[in-house]
Amino acid sequence: MEPTVHAVVFDDLAPRRPAGATEGDRCPGALRLHQAADGWLARIRIPGGRLTPTQLAALADVATAQGNGLLDLTSRANVQLRGLRGDPSAAIAAAGLLPAPAHERVRNVLASPLAGRDPRALLDGVRLTAALDAAICADPALTALSGRFQFAVEDGSGLLAGADADLLLEAVGRDEVRLVTAGVPGEARADEAGAPALAVAAARTFLAGADGAWRIARTAAPSAPSAPLELGPFAQPDGRVALTALAPLGRLDAQQLRGLAALGRELRVSPWRTVTLVDADAGDATALRALGLILDADSGWRGLTACAGLGACPRARLDVRAAAAARARRRSPGDPAEHWSACPRRCGAPRAGAATVTWTTDGVRSEGLDPGAVRAALEVAA
Ligand code: SF4
Repeated sequence: MEPTVHAVVFDDLAPRRPAGATEGDRCPGALRLHQAADGWLARIRIPGGRLTPTQLAALADVATAQGNGLLDLTSRANVQLRGLRGDPSAAIAAAGLLPAPAHERVRNVLASPLAGRDPRALLDGVRLTAALDAAICADPALTALSGRFQFAVEDGSGLLAGADADLLLEAVGRDEVRLVTAGVPGEARADEAGAPALAVAAARTFLAGADGAWRIARTAAPSAPSAPLELGPFAQPDGRVALTALAPLGRLDAQQLRGLAALGRELRVSPWRTVTLVDADAGDATALRALGLILDADSGWRGLTACAGLGACPRARLDVRAAAAARARRRSPGDPAEHWSACPRRCGAPRAGAATVTWTTDGVRSEGLDPGAVRAALEVAA
């Protein structure tokens, strides 16, 4: 049955243009590289954040052979290779991470890292994410979307309920999905099979009136906050576990990638810069810890983020990653989230609720954090 699209849904598709933006969308991709201070940067879209062991090993290989040996996890659950000296696209395509070249920058689909393994879910988020990705890639018109335009799937578990998504498909029943536009639930609903068409139709309507804007204007806070993604083991219905670990400051090195690949499980990256090993045994937790990943909810790394920083970004004036690492050793459980930025752009900062430390031309400015703690971290980093 064809899904019904209610016209009122699209009344809210006002364009959002970043304040002061004068340039076109230069959001990087795997084919459109960005020139950073440390070399070329490639951003690879990973719908649903799912990576196979073979893909993890391939990313380790390309990071080592062509880049700086590191892989960054982004706040949109994509991955970035940095310090590239050549074109990585052939290696990325060979790993199956570039299946739709024309759409490669618009395959921005967030999903729960526990999708398909979560008893709280109302439907299989892996299946719906794959169907949405396929529907996006099947529509040539959607190649005009900005690389910043964000789709998301909320499977009923609540983990993505508050996602910063332009278009969210939210399960509200076992086979009922509604469209949420920039945080506002609309009238449009469909069964699971018809849900991707809802999002595609809304994206097309947005494009028709976008006038160069990148995203849909957010006029209200999300209708619901996201449920927290806990570190450590999560019991799957089949008796196995999904293990979620934090990558400190959202970065994995080639050795960690190869170690994760060697575990032979599917890995899911999340917007919280975690990795989740699904279909795992409890014993895999030991291997994750040995790789330097954090499964302890009390860790000082939890809630701590930093921008790419000195050596990686030409705007950076401060080694914020070293300072943040110093903070990790001193933070206590329950401390508020904390983001360190090496310039006022505050790349990767949480949308709200985080203490911030920012380099400015007037000095280092902190909000929500004890100045003595900031000074101590800066001294370590100096
Ligand atoms: S916050 Fe500034 S220094 Fe840091 S990555 Fe963004 S632009 Fe570069």
